[in-house]
Amino acid sequence: MQKSVAPIAHFRVYPGSQQRSGLYLTVVVFKTRAEMLTYCRESANAGYQCGDNVNAACHSFDRIVVRAGKKDRKLPHIGEIHLHLDAIGIGVLSHEMAHGAYCWLRRKLRTEGVRFFGKVIYDMTVEEKYAWVLGNLVRQSVVRLYELGIYPR
Ligand SMILES: [Zn+2]
Repeated sequence: MQKSVAPIAHFRVYPGSQQRSGLYLTVVVFKTRAEMLTYCRESANAGYQCGDNVNAACHSFDRIVVRAGKKDRKLPHIGEIHLHLDAIGIGVLSHEMAHGAYCWLRRKLRTEGVRFFGKVIYDMTVEEKYAWVLGNLVRQSVVRLYELGIYPR
């Protein structure tokens, strides 16, 4: 279906490689939050559903090729991150990338459970808290590094 809004940027990021290969997420940037939400609503069949209160989102999924007589095959596209120009700061970015890291962990571990300090966890509440904490730590560190004149280098 043709969408009524177009992103201003659309690119891939590869959690497990610096060589731009293997499993990847797409990052899609919109001019405004309203455009991002419209895109999500129009993509509902693709699984990009989010509530009206989100400021940015990471959608995790498995895309599977199913062919008669052949083994099902999972495609390397494991998630999509939606951002807009008022939500691209380092705090938001690292928060959504934490969710992206979880997409990669789920696929690599072939489970809904992620092992963290010896415990299997998969609980969206834990993932959300982890993403918030990481976002806060990275944002505060980057802000301080700029204040101290260490960034930019
Ligand atoms: Zn989150």
